[in-house]
Amino acid sequence: MFVANGTGAGDTTQHILVVEDEPIIADAVAARLVSEGFGVTKAADGPTAVERCAEVQPDLVVLDLNLPGFDGLEVCRRIQAARRVPVVMLTARDDETDMLVGLGVGADDYLTKPFSPRELVARVKAVLRRAEATPGPVLESDGLRIDPAARVVTIDGTVVHLTPTEFDLIRVLAEAGRTVLSRDQLLSMVWGYRDGSGARTVDSHVRSVRRKLGDETIRTVHGVGYAFGAPSGVTS
Ligand code: CA
Repeated sequence: MFVANGTGAGDTTQHILVVEDEPIIADAVAARLVSEGFGVTKAADGPTAVERCAEVQPDLVVLDLNLPGFDGLEVCRRIQAARRVPVVMLTARDDETDMLVGLGVGADDYLTKPFSPRELVARVKAVLRRAEATPGPVLESDGLRIDPAARVVTIDGTVVHLTPTEFDLIRVLAEAGRTVLSRDQLLSMVWGYRDGSGARTVDSHVRSVRRKLGDETIRTVHGVGYAFGAPSGVTS
């Protein structure tokens, strides 16, 4: 039997907006979040989700992809246009997650159905921890510049749009310098997972970062993992 120990919520209640049109899933997720000390607001379609997000200013949004009205993709665009809010996206299949990562949707994490409410809460807490982490120094290598405080990446002075997870992936690799990081280490450092599941998540994000910043920015070390790949190393 899993016993919750209410870490992460702190002394001020954090508020989660749960956007899900299937009542059984929405109720189970909401009940679990409430039992962990979170405040919860629910919405069951796209337009309502955008309204509630503006009203309650949640600390994080749990967002189903397939919704009536307009879908989770459009909800994500609209709420992120107003202000930066962490999003955990719920998808029906793994290939939907790959597609969304490829599109560069601004979600912080993805969870494929079916999932346990316990797993979702672990993801929610991990994303909230990432959002609260203290930024490190600016990293520069050749034309690539990573500014953790501003969460901006530039190549030769031009801003490259990265999703939150893509940003954290290249930042963690650059901070590690020449050190090769395994997929499990990356899952822990970037996604905050402790159970080591989700190697394909790492691989699909590595592909999308390479597409945006160049293949040479992340080096594959076969049988081990990934390393920051720019040739002349990193100075901070
Ligand atoms: Ca749905």
